[in-house]
Amino acid sequence: MSTHTNRKRLLVLDDEKNVAETICMMAGAAEFDTEHTCDAGTFIEKVIAWKPTHVVIDLQLGDRNGIEVIHSLGETGCDAALIIVSGLGGRILEASAIAANERGLNVLGTLAKPFSRKSFQSMLAVEVPSGRRTLNPAKRSIELDVSDQHLVAALKEERLIAHFQPKISCVDGELVGFECLARWPQPNGGMLPPDIFIALAEKTGLIDHVTRSVYTYALANLPDQVRERGLKVALNLSPLNLGDVLFPRWLLNKCGEHGLAPSQIILEITETASMDRPLALLENMTQFRIQGFHLSIDDFGVGYSSLIQLARLPFSEMKVDQMFVKSLATSDESQKIVTSVVGLGKSMGLNVVAEGVEDAWALGFLRDIGCHEAQGYFIARPMDSIAATEWKGCSWFADN
Ligand code: C2E
Ligand code: MG
Ligand code: MG
Repeated sequence: MSTHTNRKRLLVLDDEKNVAETICMMAGAAEFDTEHTCDAGTFIEKVIAWKPTHVVIDLQLGDRNGIEVIHSLGETGCDAALIIVSGLGGRILEASAIAANERGLNVLGTLAKPFSRKSFQSMLAVEVPSGRRTLNPAKRSIELDVSDQHLVAALKEERLIAHFQPKISCVDGELVGFECLARWPQPNGGMLPPDIFIALAEKTGLIDHVTRSVYTYALANLPDQVRERGLKVALNLSPLNLGDVLFPRWLLNKCGEHGLAPSQIILEITETASMDRPLALLENMTQFRIQGFHLSIDDFGVGYSSLIQLARLPFSEMKVDQMFVKSLATSDESQKIVTSVVGLGKSMGLNVVAEGVEDAWALGFLRDIGCHEAQGYFIARPMDSIAATEWKGCSWFADN
């Protein structure tokens, strides 16, 4: 075992010795120190003792399967870059990568066997972010120690703000509107993301205040293009807000104050388990529609969003969840799911928006399948109002 500390170290777990040796040889050629084993127990011991920078796990092992090993690896707190290999096909590889991600492991990628030296070495060449991936928001909020008292104080001092992320047409790249995303600036200059404090607000009964506070800020600070070109403004609404009977009237008045027509406003609702009073929900949502607001079903395709809700509730827009959109370029399954979901939305007469567009390939794909609108880091990140007003647009359409 090499003790050279500056070189990267790759550890392989594969029950076929010749395959393991070949992988080590390819990594050796890319300046890695290498080790391999065919035994899962030995593998975990080596992970702890040798602290590899990269690990390769084959999913099919003799006595144990790769998922069990991924589970154990997660428990060691390993922060090595993980490559999962298998001859079992793309869907199983993708599922195991998701499982590894959920365990907090740093998944570098998956490779279907047999793979070429080139594809393996280009994966090894990727710069890996150090440290464990952040686990779920609930865990993060504990680390950040955010309490309901902090939130009450932030509401009182009107410290909650919004950032604005452009939405464009997939036909010609024209700006069609912005989504307003809640932000909580921190004294250290950081920005607390909404998944943490929205969940806290929902749990502690503060959500009606939080929603009004964020909407008040967003509508008073809209990027200039909204009024200049009559663009749309998307705002997120917690299903719990639908229990606030005074809210539709409040929002109507706010729109009047800022010279906005209700038809410019899209309320994005993510379905959750709390949508347990379907009749009240139906009534409230119908009221919004009667007043002229648009309703969008957010994160469609994951969680609780179901076909029944889509058929029953008066949505006018569907947002395809970013989980499928982000992986379009690399996943056949995602391409099939996005194609079907976009087709479903269009056949129901909905405006279909894909979020999580992170690369040109995804944007091209969405345009080709006839998705109406797109939003994502490849187009623009959420920005403060000044940056959003100065945003020059998406240049990709000029050359494609
Ligand atoms: P969402 O409504 O689905 O918003 C999209 C989230 O994806 C935003 O995260 C946005 O910054 C992020 N995003 C956009 N493009 C990309 C991309 O290309 N790649 C990746 N990886 N992410 C992208 P954010 O701002 O952290 O918001 C998270 C969620 O918090 C929102 O998801 C929404 O459900 C909720 N939220 C935000 N603002 C509010 C609010 O005012 N009220 C309520 N109730 N919920 C809100
Ligand atoms: Mg949204
Ligand atoms: Mg979403």
